[in-house]
Amino acid sequence: MRLSQFHLATVKEVPADAELTSHRLMLRAGMIRKLASGLYTWSPLGLRVLRKVENVVRDEMDRAGAMEMLMPAVQPKELWKETGRWDKFGSELLKIRDRKEQEFVFGPTHEEVITDFARNELKSYKQLPINFYQIQTKFRDEIRPRFGVMRAREFLMKDAYSFHLSPESLNETYEVMYQTYSRIFSRLGLKFRAVQADTGAIGGNASHEFQVLADSGEDAIAFSDRSDYAANIEKAEALAPAGERPAPRAELKRVDTPTQKTIADVSAFLGVSPQQCVKTLLVRGREGLVALCLRGDHEINEVKAGKLPELPDESVLAPEEEILSATGTRPGFIGPVGLPGNIPVIVDRSAAVLADFVCGGNADGTHYTGANWERDARITRVEDIRQVVEGDPSPDGHGTLQMARGIEVGHIFQLGPKYAQALGATVLDDQGKAQVMMMGCYGIGVSRIVAAAIEQSHDEAGIIWPEAMAPWRVAVCIINPKNLPEVREAAEALYRKLEGRGVETLLDDRGLRPGQMFADLELIGIPHRVVVSERGLASGTLEYRRRGEAENRAITEDELFTL
Ligand code: ATP
Ligand code: MG
Ligand code: MG
Ligand code: MG
Repeated sequence: MRLSQFHLATVKEVPADAELTSHRLMLRAGMIRKLASGLYTWSPLGLRVLRKVENVVRDEMDRAGAMEMLMPAVQPKELWKETGRWDKFGSELLKIRDRKEQEFVFGPTHEEVITDFARNELKSYKQLPINFYQIQTKFRDEIRPRFGVMRAREFLMKDAYSFHLSPESLNETYEVMYQTYSRIFSRLGLKFRAVQADTGAIGGNASHEFQVLADSGEDAIAFSDRSDYAANIEKAEALAPAGERPAPRAELKRVDTPTQKTIADVSAFLGVSPQQCVKTLLVRGREGLVALCLRGDHEINEVKAGKLPELPDESVLAPEEEILSATGTRPGFIGPVGLPGNIPVIVDRSAAVLADFVCGGNADGTHYTGANWERDARITRVEDIRQVVEGDPSPDGHGTLQMARGIEVGHIFQLGPKYAQALGATVLDDQGKAQVMMMGCYGIGVSRIVAAAIEQSHDEAGIIWPEAMAPWRVAVCIINPKNLPEVREAAEALYRKLEGRGVETLLDDRGLRPGQMFADLELIGIPHRVVVSERGLASGTLEYRRRGEAENRAITEDELFTL
């Protein structure tokens, strides 16, 4: 590519709200431009990098035997009703209407659509296992879009879904995907770690996140210094013994409580004051203790806390202090009896003396009435929260825990029969009997990877791309093109030669002063830079600098081709 004919638009100043290095550098390099909150245009430069990532992902997915397809971004409400997620997914779900008043969602994920496809396409166990994937635009109405494309509302995801007759087969494909993800992130030149993650409300046996290691990452991870143990902080803390919980003696009842409730609904339902209706779990987040509202199949009280919007799925709602100021009470009122897993539950001291509560029964549409906090709740006070800290013994008994921060770039999940069951996706087994299929799902944040790579690799001057992600591998710079035609000719010849050998090359023929030229090339992170100058021509060498190094070296053309 001749740079004089390319739209390169580097800028010096970026908006103050661009706090993260990758966000700033992507704006300065002109890779992205903001259209609106969480919505970004990828410039030709940005897109070149995005495509690099996409192609590595595609290559490895194909190699793993997965089949690429493409599903619509817009999905009919009916499918989401069938799985129950129309009501349960929460506020990240963008609901839209067409001219006939038909409702749709802009897909945040595609379990519904792929399972619908599978129930129509797959008839026999002989077609299994099978793994479909797509690389496609998702929309999630994130409560706090930030950090540019790192946490955008519209973003590019690779999502794959596998179908199986048996858990063993699901395990096998899960393992293949685990290896595939490791290959993808290695090829992209990222320092990463696969960590165990909670399977949460969906259930299922296994889930791993792939975390790019970066101090600025939103996630905390814990890993052993002596074994392979690694988990995200939620998973690591969930293992903490939280004390014995007596079997609830409250009465299990079916109570008709829609999942989305306002504070007013809940307080009327429970007959308590709105101030008592903040139903939260406290977990440790980036900014210390934060209140997290769990929303899932098993929840009774979807409440709104103060001025905050509807509760999003698994999202950080607000720091404890924010809840306190919005509601006048500490977060504390929780469905204590049947929370899934070993999640520490925090009950405000004042709540602990209250009896005859109604709370979640940990099954769809069921609730305990007459619950008694003292008797039934597993009460963990804020101060008793198990905090996993560096130096703790590793849960697997080998070594001690180290902590690091990470950026979640991939997530694999054994879903089991959940979606296939809900949508009636069955195949005939070898006895001719209909069997509900098992599923796995496997996501990669393609656009997030671009930002994550920059977080991991940059310096004062700008981005330092791993070779596999660089928009071009080599930049050929022409100094003083007007004055010295032979310099231009030599540079052009070198450019053609590199391109001819399949090396993606940028010819900087803009005629800028060297300082400006180099500043741009360093900012956009080209790994190899050669300067063709009069002096070099005379000595038969090129002035070479590898991005990230401080010194130039004189190399011959032959040496350049062996880099
Ligand atoms: P996060 O915890 O960061 O919100 P998630 O767990 O909600 O991510 P998944 O549902 O696991 O995301 O989606 C698969 C992948 O999509 C994630 O691992 C991440 O890389 C990417 N992703 C999710 N949300 C966003 C977003 N808002 N912007 C960019 N990429 C995202
Ligand atoms: Mg999310
Ligand atoms: Mg996550
Ligand atoms: Mg995830």
